[in-house]
Parts: sequence; structure tokens; C-alpha cells
Amino acid sequence: MKFKNFPMVPRVIFGAGSFKQLGEILLPKRKSSDTPVIYLVDAIFENQEISKQIPVLFSDQIIYVSTDEEPKTEQVDALVSLLKTNYPELPAAIVGIGGGSILDLAKAVAIMLTNKGKAEDYQGWDLVKNPAIYHVGVPTLSGTGAEVSRTAVLSGPEKKLGINSDYTPFDQVVLDPDLTINVEKDQWFYTGMDCFIHCIESLNGTYLNAFSQSYGEKALDLCKEVFLEDIDSSSARDKLMMASWHGGMSIAYSQVGVAHAISYGLSHVLGIKHGIGNCLVFQYLEEFYPEGVALFSKMMDKHNIILPKGICKNLSENQLNTMIKVAMAMTPLWENALGANWQDTITESKLKSIYKKI
Ligand code: NAD
Ligand code: ZN
Repeated sequence: MKFKNFPMVPRVIFGAGSFKQLGEILLPKRKSSDTPVIYLVDAIFENQEISKQIPVLFSDQIIYVSTDEEPKTEQVDALVSLLKTNYPELPAAIVGIGGGSILDLAKAVAIMLTNKGKAEDYQGWDLVKNPAIYHVGVPTLSGTGAEVSRTAVLSGPEKKLGINSDYTPFDQVVLDPDLTINVEKDQWFYTGMDCFIHCIESLNGTYLNAFSQSYGEKALDLCKEVFLEDIDSSSARDKLMMASWHGGMSIAYSQVGVAHAISYGLSHVLGIKHGIGNCLVFQYLEEFYPEGVALFSKMMDKHNIILPKGICKNLSENQLNTMIKVAMAMTPLWENALGANWQDTITESKLKSIYKKI
């Protein structure tokens, strides 16, 4: 057996209000007044309090990015080309401020500034040759674990796949739970459930080991506190941010499972976003995760979440077949969930019957 030797985020600051320290964190990384810090910020924060607190100095630039759609390889290429045209030198830092979409975008831009070609050339495992620009992640939405992970998930012309490399993880993460104060309830739930589902899939997978279990169990306990108990909102924000971190660490050394595999199909064909896509699928996975689905239903009830219905009702045969193909191709996810003989359980007709329910 060959063991993975993977990098972790070397520096993290945690606490409500810690975002105010971003300026002092960046200061030693600044080389001259001509080498800017580039802030990639979710467009939702334009003219908001968070933007006023961004420590802009000298030639720094804030670039607001819409997250109506999840990040794309061509978007990364366009940003890299813009930065190379606008500045004679490489930036001193790339700072991503937003949810999983912006965090992944920031990681990818930091990599592509120092690596030739297009972002799509690096979708896969360990294809990145040169270290990235120093990059900082500031999550404003908790759940994906993108702040700790070794991947930057991008949709490319051919596939939705991450840039998985040792150069992908952030050099610095700022965990300020107050930045998540204004997240809408449904979005809070969907992205929070991404974390919950990471835990269930990791803890019930065949790849499980003590490393993943220790993080997964902690994350699951935190999710239960946040989504099933009556705790005050400030503690809930703190705990969900740490649940996201631990959930991400748990899957780093194992893998996700059935919900993610099926949800990738939904996202590929219909552009359904990661968090809600996982929820749409997970509700029908009692056969695979009975306890997890029971907890999920309780959480939905407690927070009065109503998921949309009939998403796959009017799909053409062609679309359904593409979804099935995309889901089936997620071999490591199925292997983790069901073992080497996963194809005994997961057939095209099985997947079709699940998609038809959604
Ligand atoms: P997101 O970043 O797409 O944001 C969802 C919505 O929430 C957007 O409308 C955004 O504007 C809004 N939002 C974010 N922060 C807010 C705030 N503080 N207040 C109000 N609104 C806010 O959502 P997400 O679920 O965090 O991320 C999904 C993305 O993460 C997908 O692209 C998925 O592929 C990726 N992902 C990556 C990893 C990884 O390890 N790299 C893991 C899981 C998911
Ligand atoms: Zn996920």
C-alpha cells in the first residue's frame, strides 16, 4: 500500500472579527508598491461592510466575481490573462473572499499565474508543475471544506473536475465566523449539509481510517449541534465553520460517496449547484445511509426546508443517460461507498430510478 503524503494549510487564524487582521497578515508578503495583492471577492459583497474592511494598499485591486454559476476553467484563464496584462509583475498574493466557488477560483488563479497553458490542462491529479502564488482563503459560507482541501473544483469544456495538487491548498486561511452572518437560510442549510454529507460519506466508506474518522466524527457532532440543537447563533456560526474544516480534513484522507457521485451528474447536465444538488440526492439514499438520511430529514423539518421537486421529470432520455454516465464514471467515490464490487449494486437502471425521483 502506498500512503498519501499530503500538505495541510500551514497557517490559520480563527475568531469572530479576525478578518480585521488580514492587513497585518499580508504586510510581510508585500514586495513593493508595484506588486499588488489581488482580492477575488464574491460580487454579493460589492458596497457591503465586508468590502470596506478589505485592506487595499498601493496598486492592490479588488475584482468582484459573480457566483451565479460555479467557477469555470475559462473564467480562470480570463482572470489570469487580465492580471498579466495589467501588471508588469506577478501579484504578491491572491486573496479569495467568498464561499466554495470563490475559494476554488482563487486557488486556481494562484496556480495558473505560475503555470503555462490553460486551466483545463491541469484538471486531474498532480499535473501542476510550479508552486502557486501565495494565496489566502477567507470563507464567508461554511460547509464545503474548500478552505482546507487540496483541490480547486472547476467546470471545463469537457468535465467538472478539480485541480488536485500539492500546490492547491491555501498558504493562509482566515476563519472569521462573523463573515457568515448574512447568509440566507436556505443557502446556509444547503452548504451546511454539504459538510454533513461529507461526514456521512466518509464515516460510512470503505476507505475509512483513524485519521479520517477522528475528523469526521468531530465534524458530525458539530453538525448535529448546529442543525438539531437550539444553540445561540454566534456559537452556531463558530461551530459550523469548524465543522466545515474538520469535514474537509476527513475526506482529504478518505473519499466522498454515493450522494456526491449522483449529484455530479445533476450538476453536469442541469448546472445544479453543489450544496442543493447533494441535498436533492441525499434524501433518497436511505438504502445506503439509513441513519444519515434519518438525521437529514430531522434537520430539514427543524429548519422548515422544502426542497424543489420534479427536477428530473422532463428530462430527455439523452440527458438522463448523460447524467448516469457522469455518475458512473466516479469510480473512487463508488469504491469508497460500496467496495470493489460496487458495480453489483450500482447499475444504470438503479441510477435512473434515483434520478427519476428527484
Ligand atoms: P457558493 O460559493 O457558490 O455561494 C453560494 C451563494 O451564497 C452565492 O449566491 C453567494 O453569493 C452566496 N454567499 C456566499 N457567502 C455569503 C454571505 N456571507 N452572505 C450572503 N450570501 C453569501 O457556495 P458554496 O456552497 O460555498 O460553494 C459551492 C462550490 O464549492 C461549488 O463550486 C463546489 O464545486 C465547490 N466545492 C469545492 C470543494 C473543494 O474541496 N474545493 C468541496 C466542496 C464543494
Ligand atoms: Zn461536497
